[in-house]
Amino acid sequence: MLRVGLPRALLYHKYHVLWTTFLHECGFGTVVSPPTNRRILERGVALAVDESCLSMKVFLGHADALTGRCDVLFVPRHESYERGEQLCVKFMATYDIVRNTLPDLSLITYNVDVHRGVDERRSMIAMARSLGVRAGVARRAHAHAVTAHHAHEVELARLQQSVAEAPRQGELRVLVVGHSYNLSDRLIGEPILAYLRALDVEVFTSDEVDKAAARRTASAISPTMKWRYNKELLGAVDLYRGLVDGIVFVVTFPCGPDSLMSEFCSRRVTGIPMTTLVLDELFGEAGVRTRLESFVDVVRERRRREQLKDVNP
Ligand code: SF4
Repeated sequence: MLRVGLPRALLYHKYHVLWTTFLHECGFGTVVSPPTNRRILERGVALAVDESCLSMKVFLGHADALTGRCDVLFVPRHESYERGEQLCVKFMATYDIVRNTLPDLSLITYNVDVHRGVDERRSMIAMARSLGVRAGVARRAHAHAVTAHHAHEVELARLQQSVAEAPRQGELRVLVVGHSYNLSDRLIGEPILAYLRALDVEVFTSDEVDKAAARRTASAISPTMKWRYNKELLGAVDLYRGLVDGIVFVVTFPCGPDSLMSEFCSRRVTGIPMTTLVLDELFGEAGVRTRLESFVDVVRERRRREQLKDVNP
């Protein structure tokens, strides 16, 4: 059985259900790299050019960690899902970056670029066919994978929404806004979410918001934003700003789309405290904790004053 390696980074965190369901139903085995650790990060930093964002460095570390553990490495190339939208240039380049950085690895890929008439379904089926999978099997695998992926996304959004509409569990509520590959990363996002919870904060994330609704509502903040995944983050801010007491942006250095997005929000979303954590490979946990503690103090004080105003208007 062909063993397909999946780096646990970048779009794996968004599409793991789609990809693993599809690959398994096509008859392949999958090997996923371990959660990010310091060794993986250091290896990624050593392999990447300095200008890469931290998230891409992490991806290269994961690709390298799969060397010798799989027969082929799965590295899709994503450009656009809908007309008028674009993905960050890194997703267009990931395949070529890995091919040039780790030339000894065998890669498989599929493209998504609706502007050139290449959609996800056709492209994934073509990839499977090139590996010897029968057309009917590949078509069925794709249909099942899409169903499983949507069910997973809908369930995540439903669960978070039901908590948001229920009475508060913690003293404060904070929305953490960042790409799934940053928020779900063991070294980057997970410690931030865990520390906020340790400060008695009820945490919501942009990753568990209805993505289609978020993309539609993003134009309320920026009608011209083109990057699909940043539209989802902007939309999450719009959908949740009335339900939380503060917003934390998690950005990896030097990410252009995210810097622009957090700047947009700081200018156009008013009446709610916001802070931005920009992380690079040198970030220290103590510094991040101090920033979060200060932010939570500000949010808590603001909420206390609002509650006093409600009692003594
Ligand atoms: S959106 Fe930002 S963090 Fe994500 S891949 Fe592009 S540059 Fe990196």
